[in-house]
Amino acid sequence: MNTMKLVLATHNRDKVSELKAVLKSEQISILTCDDFPAMPEIIEDGDTLEENALKKARGIHQYTKLPVLADDTGLEVPALKGAPGVMSSRYAGDQASYADNVAKLLKEMAHIPMEQREARFRTVMVYLDDRNKIITEGDVSGQILEDVRGRGGFGYDPVFYYPPFNKTFSEMTLSEKNRISHRGQALLKMIKALRENHILKEV
Ligand code: IMP
Repeated sequence: MNTMKLVLATHNRDKVSELKAVLKSEQISILTCDDFPAMPEIIEDGDTLEENALKKARGIHQYTKLPVLADDTGLEVPALKGAPGVMSSRYAGDQASYADNVAKLLKEMAHIPMEQREARFRTVMVYLDDRNKIITEGDVSGQILEDVRGRGGFGYDPVFYYPPFNKTFSEMTLSEKNRISHRGQALLKMIKALRENHILKEV
Protein backbone atom coordinates (compact mmCIF):
# COMPACT_ATOMS: atom_id res chain seq x y z
CA MET A 1 0.00 0.00 0.00
CA ASN A 2 1.24 3.48 -0.88
CA THR A 3 1.16 5.59 2.27
CA MET A 4 1.31 9.34 1.90
CA LYS A 5 3.93 11.17 3.94
CA LEU A 6 2.81 14.37 5.68
CA VAL A 7 4.94 16.78 7.70
CA LEU A 8 3.16 18.55 10.57
CA ALA A 9 4.69 22.02 10.61
CA THR A 10 5.38 22.22 14.33
CA HIS A 11 7.70 21.19 17.17
CA ASN A 12 4.81 21.60 19.63
CA ARG A 13 4.11 18.13 21.08
CA ASP A 14 0.70 19.19 22.40
CA LYS A 15 -0.44 20.19 18.92
CA VAL A 16 1.07 17.03 17.43
CA SER A 17 -0.88 14.84 19.90
CA GLU A 18 -4.16 16.54 18.98
CA LEU A 19 -3.56 16.33 15.23
CA LYS A 20 -2.31 12.72 15.37
CA ALA A 21 -5.36 11.61 17.37
CA VAL A 22 -7.56 12.58 14.39
CA LEU A 23 -5.15 11.66 11.57
CA LYS A 24 -4.39 8.18 12.93
CA SER A 25 -7.35 6.68 11.08
CA GLU A 26 -6.06 7.99 7.72
CA GLN A 27 -3.49 6.27 5.49
CA ILE A 28 -0.78 8.78 6.32
CA SER A 29 2.74 8.44 7.62
CA ILE A 30 3.15 11.44 9.93
CA LEU A 31 6.39 13.35 10.42
CA THR A 32 6.99 16.53 12.43
CA CYS A 33 9.65 19.24 12.48
CA ASP A 34 11.49 17.13 15.08
CA ASP A 35 12.26 14.66 12.25
CA PHE A 36 14.31 17.40 10.51
CA PRO A 37 16.71 18.66 13.18
CA ALA A 38 18.81 20.72 10.74
CA MET A 39 15.79 22.55 9.27
CA PRO A 40 16.09 26.32 9.85
CA GLU A 41 13.55 27.79 12.29
CA ILE A 42 10.66 29.62 10.60
CA ILE A 43 10.09 33.05 12.14
CA GLU A 44 6.36 33.60 12.70
CA ASP A 45 6.32 37.36 12.11
CA GLY A 46 3.22 37.65 9.91
CA ASP A 47 0.43 40.11 10.73
CA THR A 48 -2.27 37.45 10.45
CA LEU A 49 -2.75 33.78 11.33
CA GLU A 50 -3.05 33.01 7.61
CA GLU A 51 0.27 34.68 6.80
CA ASN A 52 2.02 32.73 9.53
CA ALA A 53 0.45 29.40 8.56
CA LEU A 54 1.41 29.96 4.90
CA LYS A 55 4.93 31.00 5.87
CA LYS A 56 5.43 27.80 7.91
CA ALA A 57 3.93 25.62 5.15
CA ARG A 58 6.08 27.18 2.39
CA GLY A 59 9.33 27.12 4.36
CA ILE A 60 8.93 23.52 5.45
CA HIS A 61 7.75 22.30 2.05
CA GLN A 62 10.73 23.98 0.39
CA TYR A 63 13.11 22.24 2.79
CA THR A 64 11.53 18.78 3.00
CA LYS A 65 9.96 18.58 -0.51
CA LEU A 66 7.13 16.71 1.20
CA PRO A 67 3.44 17.58 1.68
CA VAL A 68 3.03 19.84 4.72
CA LEU A 69 0.17 20.61 7.09
CA ALA A 70 0.64 23.87 9.01
CA ASP A 71 -1.65 25.57 11.49
CA ASP A 72 -1.53 28.89 13.24
CA THR A 73 -3.81 29.60 16.15
CA GLY A 74 -4.75 32.69 18.09
CA LEU A 75 -6.94 33.45 21.09
CA GLU A 76 -9.03 36.55 20.39
CA VAL A 77 -10.61 38.46 23.27
CA PRO A 78 -12.96 41.29 22.16
CA ALA A 79 -12.62 43.07 25.56
CA LEU A 80 -8.86 43.29 24.82
CA LYS A 81 -9.48 44.53 21.26
CA GLY A 82 -8.70 41.10 19.82
CA ALA A 83 -5.51 40.46 21.82
CA PRO A 84 -3.52 38.26 22.22
CA GLY A 85 -4.49 37.17 18.66
CA VAL A 86 -1.56 36.55 16.36
CA MET A 87 0.74 37.24 19.35
CA SER A 88 -0.74 34.38 21.42
CA SER A 89 2.51 32.41 21.80
CA ARG A 90 4.54 35.52 22.74
CA TYR A 91 1.93 37.46 24.71
CA ALA A 92 4.11 37.72 27.84
CA GLY A 93 7.38 38.01 25.88
CA ASP A 94 9.51 36.10 23.38
CA GLN A 95 10.44 33.25 25.72
CA ALA A 96 7.11 33.16 27.55
CA SER A 97 5.85 29.83 28.92
CA TYR A 98 2.20 28.80 28.73
CA ALA A 99 1.87 29.78 32.43
CA ASP A 100 3.40 33.23 31.77
CA ASN A 101 0.92 33.89 28.97
CA VAL A 102 -2.06 32.76 31.04
CA ALA A 103 -0.90 34.92 33.97
CA LYS A 104 -0.62 37.96 31.70
CA LEU A 105 -4.08 37.31 30.22
CA LEU A 106 -5.66 37.03 33.70
CA LYS A 107 -3.90 40.24 34.79
CA GLU A 108 -5.04 42.18 31.70
CA MET A 109 -8.61 40.95 32.27
CA ALA A 110 -8.69 41.40 36.06
CA HIS A 111 -11.09 44.36 35.82
CA ILE A 112 -13.41 42.77 33.24
CA PRO A 113 -16.71 41.31 34.54
CA MET A 114 -17.69 37.73 33.62
CA GLU A 115 -20.37 38.81 31.10
CA GLN A 116 -17.71 40.62 29.04
CA ARG A 117 -15.11 37.84 29.08
CA GLU A 118 -16.04 36.20 25.78
CA ALA A 119 -13.16 34.79 23.76
CA ARG A 120 -12.62 32.87 20.58
CA PHE A 121 -9.90 30.47 19.50
CA ARG A 122 -9.28 30.64 15.77
CA THR A 123 -7.09 28.32 13.68
CA VAL A 124 -6.00 28.76 10.07
CA MET A 125 -4.73 25.51 8.57
CA VAL A 126 -2.75 25.19 5.34
CA TYR A 127 -1.98 22.07 3.31
CA LEU A 128 0.76 22.50 0.73
CA ASP A 129 2.36 20.11 -1.75
CA ASP A 130 3.91 20.50 -5.24
CA ARG A 131 0.54 21.06 -6.87
CA ASN A 132 -2.01 21.93 -4.21
CA LYS A 133 -2.64 24.62 -1.64
CA ILE A 134 -5.69 24.23 0.57
CA ILE A 135 -6.67 26.57 3.40
CA THR A 136 -9.30 25.85 6.06
CA GLU A 137 -10.35 27.59 9.25
CA GLY A 138 -11.94 26.61 12.52
CA ASP A 139 -13.09 28.57 15.54
CA VAL A 140 -14.76 28.05 18.87
CA SER A 141 -16.28 30.55 21.29
CA GLY A 142 -16.15 30.46 25.07
CA GLN A 143 -15.26 32.60 28.06
CA ILE A 144 -12.07 33.38 29.94
CA LEU A 145 -12.44 32.34 33.60
CA GLU A 146 -10.94 34.37 36.44
CA ASP A 147 -8.72 31.44 37.48
CA VAL A 148 -7.28 28.24 36.03
CA ARG A 149 -9.35 25.02 36.06
CA GLY A 150 -8.26 21.50 35.04
CA ARG A 151 -5.01 19.73 34.28
CA GLY A 152 -5.14 18.63 30.63
CA GLY A 153 -4.54 20.45 27.36
CA PHE A 154 -2.00 23.22 26.90
CA GLY A 155 -1.59 26.94 26.34
CA TYR A 156 -4.69 28.92 27.35
CA ASP A 157 -6.80 25.75 27.84
CA PRO A 158 -7.01 26.02 31.69
CA VAL A 159 -8.81 29.40 31.48
CA PHE A 160 -10.91 28.76 28.34
CA TYR A 161 -14.41 27.74 29.47
CA TYR A 162 -16.76 26.11 26.98
CA PRO A 163 -20.36 26.57 28.27
CA PRO A 164 -22.06 23.72 26.29
CA PHE A 165 -19.84 21.14 28.10
CA ASN A 166 -19.62 23.13 31.38
CA LYS A 167 -15.86 22.49 31.23
CA THR A 168 -12.65 24.29 30.46
CA PHE A 169 -10.61 22.85 27.61
CA SER A 170 -8.23 21.56 30.30
CA GLU A 171 -11.04 19.52 31.84
CA MET A 172 -11.87 17.77 28.54
CA THR A 173 -10.46 14.55 27.15
CA LEU A 174 -8.44 14.87 23.95
CA SER A 175 -11.33 13.51 21.90
CA GLU A 176 -13.87 15.88 23.54
CA LYS A 177 -11.63 18.86 22.77
CA ASN A 178 -10.93 17.70 19.21
CA ARG A 179 -14.66 17.30 18.53
CA ILE A 180 -15.44 20.98 19.12
CA SER A 181 -12.13 22.87 19.07
CA HIS A 182 -10.82 25.40 16.57
CA ARG A 183 -8.04 23.02 15.49
CA GLY A 184 -10.36 19.98 15.39
CA GLN A 185 -12.85 21.86 13.16
CA ALA A 186 -10.15 23.14 10.81
CA LEU A 187 -8.71 19.61 10.56
CA LEU A 188 -12.05 17.95 9.79
CA LYS A 189 -12.65 20.49 7.00
CA MET A 190 -9.12 19.85 5.74
CA ILE A 191 -9.58 16.06 5.64
CA LYS A 192 -12.82 16.54 3.69
CA ALA A 193 -11.06 18.87 1.20
CA LEU A 194 -8.10 16.48 0.83
CA ARG A 195 -10.53 13.66 -0.01
CA GLU A 196 -12.48 15.80 -2.48
CA ASN A 197 -9.22 16.67 -4.22
CA HIS A 198 -8.17 12.97 -4.26
CA ILE A 199 -5.08 13.75 -2.18
CA LEU A 200 -6.35 11.47 0.57
CA LYS A 201 -8.10 8.20 -0.13
CA GLU A 202 -11.44 7.33 1.46
CA VAL A 203 -10.82 4.95 4.37
P1 IMP B 1 0.69 28.73 17.37
O1 IMP B 1 1.32 30.01 16.91
O2 IMP B 1 -0.34 28.21 16.45
O3 IMP B 1 1.71 27.70 17.74
O4 IMP B 1 -0.10 29.01 18.72
C1 IMP B 1 0.08 30.18 19.45
C2 IMP B 1 -0.20 29.98 20.91
O5 IMP B 1 -1.59 29.85 21.10
C3 IMP B 1 0.42 28.73 21.55
O6 IMP B 1 1.70 28.99 22.04
C4 IMP B 1 -0.53 28.47 22.69
O7 IMP B 1 -0.19 29.26 23.81
C5 IMP B 1 -1.84 28.97 22.14
N1 IMP B 1 -2.64 27.87 21.63
C6 IMP B 1 -2.63 27.35 20.37
N2 IMP B 1 -3.53 26.36 20.29
C7 IMP B 1 -4.10 26.27 21.52
C8 IMP B 1 -5.09 25.40 22.05
O8 IMP B 1 -5.65 24.50 21.40
N3 IMP B 1 -5.41 25.62 23.34
C9 IMP B 1 -4.85 26.59 24.11
N4 IMP B 1 -3.90 27.40 23.66
C10 IMP B 1 -3.54 27.23 22.36
